[in-house]
Amino acid sequence: MSKGLFKISPGFEDVMPAEYKELVTNGPYGRDLGISDLGTFKELIEEHPLCAGCAEALALRLILASLPNPEDTVIVGSTGCSSLLFPQVAVQNIHSLFGNQNAVATGLKRALRLRFPDKVKDVAVIAGDGATVDIGLDMVMQSWFRRELITTIMLDNEVYANTGGQESGMSPQGAVLNMAPLGKKFPKVNLPEIAREAGCAYVATISPALPRRLGKVVRRAILVAREIGPSYVQIFCPCPTNFKWPSAQVLQKIRDRQKEGIFKVREYVSPEAEAYLARLEVVKQHDEEQ
Ligand code: SF4
Repeated sequence: MSKGLFKISPGFEDVMPAEYKELVTNGPYGRDLGISDLGTFKELIEEHPLCAGCAEALALRLILASLPNPEDTVIVGSTGCSSLLFPQVAVQNIHSLFGNQNAVATGLKRALRLRFPDKVKDVAVIAGDGATVDIGLDMVMQSWFRRELITTIMLDNEVYANTGGQESGMSPQGAVLNMAPLGKKFPKVNLPEIAREAGCAYVATISPALPRRLGKVVRRAILVAREIGPSYVQIFCPCPTNFKWPSAQVLQKIRDRQKEGIFKVREYVSPEAEAYLARLEVVKQHDEEQ
């Protein structure tokens, strides 16, 4: 993909919002920027429609700032709060129907490999827990069984948030939500373990309260999916609106839950993926020394 795609069409310069112009001018395309450069470029238009303090919005900002090659990345989204954000981001994105995001991503990745055999084209699914675990689990797992070269990122906000607060497969046991007044009866689905068993070469759980580590995890997941096999990242970003937390306390709540052991940071790397990532590190170090 050409970086020219992100230029404003001639004749529209006057009517485009100032924020968008800034994003086109100073965005991260082709500049090899990362989490530590956040604040020096715009990866997301600020006046997005997600609630104040939404941990998903923060997670998405961090993901976008961590993509190894944003101008050659396509994000496939699905229905949910996160889908409201995609029109505001600075990378190519596709909105799929609720739950079929991994099937769409699979077809897209295969088409890109045929159309651009000599170029790297990354395809990453970013979807909520409803789309990934509940409605889309069949297609998610089929893509892993077939070893499709895509990254699946789940924004785990632990609830069907934008439809009023039904429990999801990822809501914690006992959670009382607007539309689950008696409390959820069974524990969170252990999707990281399922992903590993289903054939993912790289699996990690992380939260936006650990931004640098999140950046590293996303980068590793995308790189592994280029060459080795499917990868899965689960980002713990509970919804302050449905859990009725003050928006300023979300990161503290995430840290508290990590301390209590309710949320754990984990990483699984297959031996083949480990060797591949080590090779990339050697090449990177060599390039930096030249
Ligand atoms: S409802 Fe929750 S997950 Fe959805 S935008 Fe608001 S805070 Fe974020």
